[in-house]
Amino acid sequence: MVTGHLATAYLARSRWPRAALLPLLVASIIPDLADFALPQGDQCRTSCELYTHAMPAVFVLAAAAGVLAWEIYHRRATTNLVIGLVLLHVVMDLVTGFKPYWPGGPNLGLHLYTRPPADFALEAVLVVIGWIVLRRTPSAPRAAVHPAALVVLLAAQAGMDLWFRHLNG
Ligand SMILES: [Zn+2]
Repeated sequence: MVTGHLATAYLARSRWPRAALLPLLVASIIPDLADFALPQGDQCRTSCELYTHAMPAVFVLAAAAGVLAWEIYHRRATTNLVIGLVLLHVVMDLVTGFKPYWPGGPNLGLHLYTRPPADFALEAVLVVIGWIVLRRTPSAPRAAVHPAALVVLLAAQAGMDLWFRHLNG
């Protein structure tokens, strides 16, 4: 799941307008950002995602993100949603990914990444729904609901899915 995560931040912001959108967007992709921060390749003993997407690491990430959000925003809605979105990330990855969710556990997930057109369809629908719903929210951040934002999100997803297709050969 790539832009589908950002769509959950859009939806959270439309449901809870008192929360700030930026930390929600960041929180929704924190496990993936952590993946990029970690050494890649075979430097992790089994799967690097054990340290970013599996229990108990994801709880540590969610708690750390929550503390940071509280320190910066001092708003309960923002803090709670940040924690929730980090946890929701790994649940949504069950659809697109295929990886262990606890140390020594089996790989789980529908692995939609191996079918890029289907992945694009699913994530594009999520993005469009999130964009439309937030756009209809009175206090929506204008940049986030500008048509250009939708184009950028869909283009980014298309780029990722072309990359996945390349990886799958
Ligand atoms: Zn992920």
